[in-house]
Amino acid sequence: MLQLQHNPFISETLIHWYTINKRTLPWRETSDPYVIWVSEIILQQTRVAQGADYFLRFIQRFPDIKTLANASEEEVLNYWQGLGYYSRARNIHAAAQQIVKLHAGKFPDQYELIVALPGIGNYTAAAIASFAFRLPFAVVDGNVFRFLTRYFGIDTPIDEVKTRKQVTELATLLLNIHQPDIHNQAIMEFGALQCTPFSPDCSKCPFEISCFANANRVVAELPKKRKKLQPQHRYFYYFCFVQNNSTYLQKRIAKDIWHNLYEFPLFESTEALSLEQLLNEDFFKKLTDSISYTILAVSPMIKHVLSHQIINATFLTLAITENNETLNHFVYSTFDDLSRFPISRLTEKFLQKIVH
Ligand code: SF4
Repeated sequence: MLQLQHNPFISETLIHWYTINKRTLPWRETSDPYVIWVSEIILQQTRVAQGADYFLRFIQRFPDIKTLANASEEEVLNYWQGLGYYSRARNIHAAAQQIVKLHAGKFPDQYELIVALPGIGNYTAAAIASFAFRLPFAVVDGNVFRFLTRYFGIDTPIDEVKTRKQVTELATLLLNIHQPDIHNQAIMEFGALQCTPFSPDCSKCPFEISCFANANRVVAELPKKRKKLQPQHRYFYYFCFVQNNSTYLQKRIAKDIWHNLYEFPLFESTEALSLEQLLNEDFFKKLTDSISYTILAVSPMIKHVLSHQIINATFLTLAITENNETLNHFVYSTFDDLSRFPISRLTEKFLQKIVH
């Protein structure tokens, strides 16, 4: 049975390692809670290399909470375009508005108030509370999880509540309460750079001797993965109409992926369709009711992989010279103006191909 007790050796070793090995990152040298918050949200599902550019662009356009709160959701989504997981952008915008309303535009400095903001969970709240306000809350992200399960030899699956609870308790016990900011940065960086997911170089690790996983040769088996869920396959058929160098768009308003982003008229099917089947669908017949069209191109099926689903998308490009009642319900925009609309990475990739 794992003995939980405070162990200053681990924190001291991590901090020492960190001072030598840490990366210089654009959000690291600040204690501004707004900047820390934005960086943490961007990095939740994004690699550091990709996130850095987005972070700099975002902070340049929305340098403080009030500017972000006053912007339209559409503009915020536009700045998020390509990062995916768009609920993060909607939440960050809603949270900025809440801070202006409830806290006079000043970022709250208590953990309970921080964690109550939209889109901020325990991890992000602990990161902001410790980095910006030096409050003693331990962060537990994927990197910390990996290091602690290996170091202590925790072999229960990572999606079990008791595993998460155990790791969180350990992280809290190990926290250096005099330097919670540095300690948290150090343990996350250690997981990211030294105790890496695949083939960590344990011979160069300061915990080489004391680490359970290394001593017992189970590094590759920890943390124990959850069983993989089968991703759901969806079949999207997009109709890109071309009329006077303009096209038709709609806003995705359902509670689904890409909420509030724009896209071409879409027919979704539970299975792959031939072109003939697609053109025989009522949806398409209505779209083209009483107008003539020419099919200019049919893209090959594009596989767009999201976290729990795979979108199999086909784009039909059609030339028309007039519209009808159905098309009148869509947003009409010139191709040059499309950059005003937040769109998914999938649609963006398609547009890059046809515009260039
Ligand atoms: S010895 Fe290897 S597995 Fe253990 S903490 Fe170090 S890098 Fe991670």
